[in-house]
Amino acid sequence: MAPHPAAGEHKNDPAPRIVPASCPACLGPAQLKRANAYGDTSLYLCSKCATEFIDPQPSDERLNEIYSSSYYDPWAVDKDPTVEAMKRTTFAWILAQCSPPSGGRILDIGCATGFLLRVALDQGLEAWGIDLNAYAIEQCRQLVPDTHVHCGFLADQPFDGISFDAIFMVDFIEHVRDPEKELRGVWERLSEGGAAVISTPRTDSTVHALTGRGWPQYREEHLTYFSLPGITTLLRRCGFEVVRSRPTRKTVTLNYAHRLMQAYHQPYATRIAHMIWKGLPFLREVTFPVRLGEMTVVARKTSG
Ligand SMILES: [Zn+2]
Repeated sequence: MAPHPAAGEHKNDPAPRIVPASCPACLGPAQLKRANAYGDTSLYLCSKCATEFIDPQPSDERLNEIYSSSYYDPWAVDKDPTVEAMKRTTFAWILAQCSPPSGGRILDIGCATGFLLRVALDQGLEAWGIDLNAYAIEQCRQLVPDTHVHCGFLADQPFDGISFDAIFMVDFIEHVRDPEKELRGVWERLSEGGAAVISTPRTDSTVHALTGRGWPQYREEHLTYFSLPGITTLLRRCGFEVVRSRPTRKTVTLNYAHRLMQAYHQPYATRIAHMIWKGLPFLREVTFPVRLGEMTVVARKTSG
């Protein structure tokens, strides 16, 4: 959903390393998968849990270029009236994965322009959001005035003294420099027995196996690509127990999928999306569910 590049304490550019770091999920050894995948950064694969990550991570300057005010342009929310219904369907599915208590309080980290917050409010929940993108937060303030939003990081400790029944991270954890630090921060802000809900690309997915290096999830700003065993190990280390995992079901239109594939160019997926979009003009505004090799993991807070 929303870009959110760095945990608060990581504001300096990372130094290049000759030997890559160990796996950020299971701490196991990693091997080179694709050298110079993006400029000077290479893609590594954990030999133990199949999590992938890039090293060295892009500089803050490069990430700021990517997360410019035009980051959401491919969504075309103002120009395409089908986007609202499409996003609402996707986020209703995400919310249903953990069923927060009636009237409960939820936090969406990487809330973007607030679609999940809107669905949560409609369901009678208290909705709070965090995003790094100032444009997105301004949109939330205008479009979702009944919510509480913070422009910045969870590490800023916003909403002092407030804890949450569920914390959502949709299309978020793959963007952060230090996922473990982020998840430990999430643990601290959850109520006892509260749930973390994470939707993120999954390396051990059928879609990744079928598409290989043409996997639509490969993007320069995605710093870590978890496997299910990898994120399960990481969550356990941070005091969580995974209670459920499902392939993420997103709802899109052909127009939306085509715009995204034009913006995030992939060798095969972009060409295929364009052929379908061109050949089936009467289906461009019809919504349909897709699975793009992502997982939605629900994890309960268990211990200190
Ligand atoms: Zn690993």
